[in-house]
Amino acid sequence: MTFDWQMPRDPFADDPNDPASLFDDDDPMPPLTQEERIQIERDLILVRKFKAALQPRGINGIFFYCEDCDQQHFYDWDIMTANMRSTLAGELSPVHEPSANPNPDAYLPWDYCLGYLDGMNYRG
Ligand SMILES: [Zn+2]
Repeated sequence: MTFDWQMPRDPFADDPNDPASLFDDDDPMPPLTQEERIQIERDLILVRKFKAALQPRGINGIFFYCEDCDQQHFYDWDIMTANMRSTLAGELSPVHEPSANPNPDAYLPWDYCLGYLDGMNYRG
């Protein structure tokens, strides 16, 4: 099997409003290593657990600070899952296309979610 990188050009590749697109131009994404796949699959399971535990409490997803954009990015659980699935499929995930008009109170940092899950496991 050969990889087909003859993909159409990113229509936003020349977007003047996106000065931070140094890493997502036309270069194909290198294939994932086995370790990376395992890590992403582990994260996928975590996101499912986060969603199950936190969505009933009004938490819609994850946020993190993006150094490329110099701002917070907010991701719904389902967007996180979709991004990870595309990464596993060898596609670039749209990391800079977060949820529109997010309510910052409805998002938590990844590490906070991890801690929350740990607390549930250990203390019932
Ligand atoms: Zn960004």
